[in-house]
Amino acid sequence: MQSQTLGFIGLGRMGAPMVRRLADAGHRVVVYDTRPDAANELPSGSTKSAASPAAVADEAEIVFCSLPTPQIVRDVVLGADGIAAGSKVRVIVDLSTTGPSMAKTVAEALAEKGIAWADAPVSGGIAGARNGTLAVMVSSTRQIYDEIEPILANFGRRFYCGEVPGSAQVAKLGNNMIAAGVILLSAEALAMGVKAGLDPSTMCDIINASSGRNSATQDKFPRAVLPGTFDFGFATALSYKDVRMCVDEAENLGVPMVGGALVRQMLAATKARFGPDSDFTSMVRIIEEWAGVEIRA
Ligand code: NAD
Repeated sequence: MQSQTLGFIGLGRMGAPMVRRLADAGHRVVVYDTRPDAANELPSGSTKSAASPAAVADEAEIVFCSLPTPQIVRDVVLGADGIAAGSKVRVIVDLSTTGPSMAKTVAEALAEKGIAWADAPVSGGIAGARNGTLAVMVSSTRQIYDEIEPILANFGRRFYCGEVPGSAQVAKLGNNMIAAGVILLSAEALAMGVKAGLDPSTMCDIINASSGRNSATQDKFPRAVLPGTFDFGFATALSYKDVRMCVDEAENLGVPMVGGALVRQMLAATKARFGPDSDFTSMVRIIEEWAGVEIRA
């Protein structure tokens, strides 16, 4: 595909590797992050730091963002010196998990300015961002989807969710609630196993060859729990934000979410016990404390 100048705001755990993939694909990427050193590790030949989101949008027609919360995305898009104030921007693509309400509000405000909005939340963690194996869920007009799809192909597999702003965010919230929930259930099962004398690695192998297999036992436990590193790469505060938005959205739609509410409270407990910047796999440590065992290889 033709190389072009793209904008990218938010160079965190997910954003930085995604920018690298765009640069590797031959694009020039104009970037911005509030952390002054955030762009230090990016390839200097194909990326350029700008002084504000508006300055990014002065240079690029399509601007991506990968930011922590809905409030931050709203401010970065619509605030003073925000993306929408840029002279060149035509399309804003939000790769963050920010929920359907914000997507609807921001899409409406941008439509009045003649700027198109796409919500394109992603799943697959840092490894997926690095390797281009993310799931990318997109809601936007079909025309905008057709335009951005070849660029999103650098990030992973695309799923078009329709034209209604926020639809992709609903899919993403459902996924993230399940991903957090299986950490809790897997921790309970493995704590029981350890207390009964089983080796947790063997028990993970058994589960992964059986009907209980899930993303926690297949990926998160082997990488971040069994070695005791608790560094999978997703902050407790962000997972808590996602599950809170999920349960709230379900409630708005009249869908009871009893399991989701439990997961929400477990993440609240994890945040209270280990802090917002702890890794969300720290949820396992709460179960370990209650059970009086450690789930280690
Ligand atoms: P992160 O905290 O590592 O990165 C966020 C970046 O945004 C940081 O570099 C921060 O300095 C920057 N930032 C914050 N406020 C800013 C502002 N006002 N202007 C410019 N930059 C600002 O977070 P992350 O893990 O990369 O997640 C980003 C988004 O992607 C979140 O919405 C998260 O829920 C979602 N997500 C994360 C993962 C994961 O595994 N980490 C997976 C899928 C989706």
